[in-house]
Amino acid sequence: MLLIECPHCGGRAQTEFAYFGEAHIVRPEEPGALSDAEWAEYLFLRKNPKGVHCERWMHAHGCRRFFNVMRDTVSGEIFGSYPIGGEKPKVARGKKTTAKTETKTANAKTEGGRE
Ligand SMILES: [Zn+2]
Repeated sequence: MLLIECPHCGGRAQTEFAYFGEAHIVRPEEPGALSDAEWAEYLFLRKNPKGVHCERWMHAHGCRRFFNVMRDTVSGEIFGSYPIGGEKPKVARGKKTTAKTETKTANAKTEGGRE
């Protein structure tokens, strides 16, 4: 189980959160100008990287706010979480370089999680 840092509430167990897929998907400004293939690409095609990935999460059993998490899809390590429109954590070659919004990974404490 992951310990995810909600930018609004602090660290909580993964069971309090809902996963909403890839972050930073931008709706086209003129959807009517797109071809069917381009529209389908916007709606359905997502990156599925082996490595660092930005994901959209929602604190479903907490503040119910959306935020983003930068996570390694191989190790499960979370490099940080940040509010929508916020700055991404700095990561160099899959390693966390700032600890400002760091979160813990599996086997971390799961009770309360308040900091
Ligand atoms: Zn929250």
